[in-house]
Amino acid sequence: MTHTQVLIIGSGPAGLTAAIYAARAQLTPIVIEGEPSSTTDQPGGQLMLTTDIENFPGFPEGITGPELMGNMRAQAERFGADLRVTKVQKLDLSKRPFTAWLTDDVEPSITADSVIVATGARSLMLDVPGEERLFSKGISVCATCDGFFFRGQDIAVVGGGDSALEEATFLTRFANTVTLIHRRDSLRASKIMQERALANPKIQFAWNSQVKEIHGEDKVSGVEVVDTVTGETRMIDVTGVFIAIGHVPNTTVVDGQVDLHENNYVATGPGTYTSIEGVFAAGDIQDHHYRQAITSAGSGCMAAIDAERWLESQS
Ligand code: NAP
Repeated sequence: MTHTQVLIIGSGPAGLTAAIYAARAQLTPIVIEGEPSSTTDQPGGQLMLTTDIENFPGFPEGITGPELMGNMRAQAERFGADLRVTKVQKLDLSKRPFTAWLTDDVEPSITADSVIVATGARSLMLDVPGEERLFSKGISVCATCDGFFFRGQDIAVVGGGDSALEEATFLTRFANTVTLIHRRDSLRASKIMQERALANPKIQFAWNSQVKEIHGEDKVSGVEVVDTVTGETRMIDVTGVFIAIGHVPNTTVVDGQVDLHENNYVATGPGTYTSIEGVFAAGDIQDHHYRQAITSAGSGCMAAIDAERWLESQS
């Protein structure tokens, strides 16, 4: 069994930034990075699914998601963070030191004085043919990240909630047309977002349309939808598809232990403190609002400083 002062769970921008700060504070953190299990679930988090990142400060020419995460990883290792490609199967936060069981371990393998939970969130996906294959090849889950690459193109957004309408409205800055594909004939989004989208001449609506398949060889060429009323299928010719049907925070390891908000995101405050003393949360697991790489990295930094000061107060 290994003991650490700081156990960091998650290796997206929040987890790795926390690792850089904790390592530089000589707390020799252990980072449990996760394990690759599908295209949309791998160490490095959601940025591993993004091609070019043009809004992360410090990279005037942009940088790819995997490259940025590789850099953060190398920076954390340079200062002595112990990075491990495995998953936390079980976490006991009921008493200190906290205890973690890793993949396939029967016995607990790590005890920790403090824990930073940075397991992120994931976008809900449609689970239709073509989606996994064409991900990042015309399919995106982030308009702020990828909208710029669809200048002058005809694209689609899937969903009928606030996220979908916000993404669709934002994307009209770049796209020629945006078709909102929604499975019903009325929107779930707030009135004000609806009014804004309905008044936007670049947004058209495909009502009662359930996505059946996303087509394209090397990149998206169209979306096949089924009319939920008539049962007929038709093709919508687009070169980009933004999926905006909601997110879920990855809370499995802390479920039933730390306090969550009604929407299941971890409740934090002040700073990155959770409801359990010595346990901190950073990144998208506690942020359903901004969800940006830079805000996530910022909260990772906060969590490391919070953990460091809390540890100091205990000694
Ligand atoms: P949401 O409100 O849960 O809406 C998800 C939408 O996706 C719904 O229209 C749903 O259709 C559709 N959908 C779900 N699964 C689907 C599937 N398998 N196939 C096709 N369509 C599917 O999620 P959200 O829009 O991400 O919003 C989440 C929360 O954040 C909400 O409380 C929202 O108000 C808030 N938010 C606020 C803002 C803002 O105020 N600026 C911006 C974004 C989000 P149905 O309607 O048929 O269920």
